[in-house]
Amino acid sequence: MILFLILTTFFTMTTTTDTLSGAAFAVQALPYDYGALAPYLSEETMRYHHDKHYAGYVSKLNELLLDSPLSGQPIEDIILSADGPLYNNAAQAWNHELFFEQLSPHPRRDPSAALVEAIDRDFGSLEALQTQMNRAAAGLFGSGWVWLASDRDGHLSILSESNAGNPIRRGLIPLLGIDVWEHAYYIDYRNRRADAVAALWNVIDWGEVSRRYALRQ
Ligand code: MN
Repeated sequence: MILFLILTTFFTMTTTTDTLSGAAFAVQALPYDYGALAPYLSEETMRYHHDKHYAGYVSKLNELLLDSPLSGQPIEDIILSADGPLYNNAAQAWNHELFFEQLSPHPRRDPSAALVEAIDRDFGSLEALQTQMNRAAAGLFGSGWVWLASDRDGHLSILSESNAGNPIRRGLIPLLGIDVWEHAYYIDYRNRRADAVAALWNVIDWGEVSRRYALRQ
């Protein structure tokens, strides 16, 4: 009887440990209050975007990984090698973590000196870069992302990607992502995507974008 209890306890603990050390990805909490980005993004938008859409991608990703040989791999490796629903949900989970992290109620307005130099070289000015990204966001048909990305040498580019598309897949490092899925703006801006993107610049933290640029190696 005692041996039975010991064995039962052992197997229960083993099972629990396996579950905890498995491939499950955790939903990352917002690094600010849900209402902190108002009036540019309302509390209602942030609650739906973070708690329903982003958390939904993480949940679906974990569900799909239960039957995948990619279970246990870093999410970047899953983005590089998966296709179909597994790619879509891994990339959307990753994309939203970058999206929320790059926003701040107290954003740094200026990029680092190194990033300013690259922006001036590749786009002419920060204003010109923003104009190009605004145009790309307005022109992207359907759902997707407009990215500012860097290669390992620090050269910058703007990419328009449909659906979950992520620059990692092209060997580039994402620095800043504009989510143009309707769920990102429809509560606050209805069909006015251009207004939503224009407002987003008010809460883009160039300190975070610059940090990503510095870490690109
Ligand atoms: Mn989104």
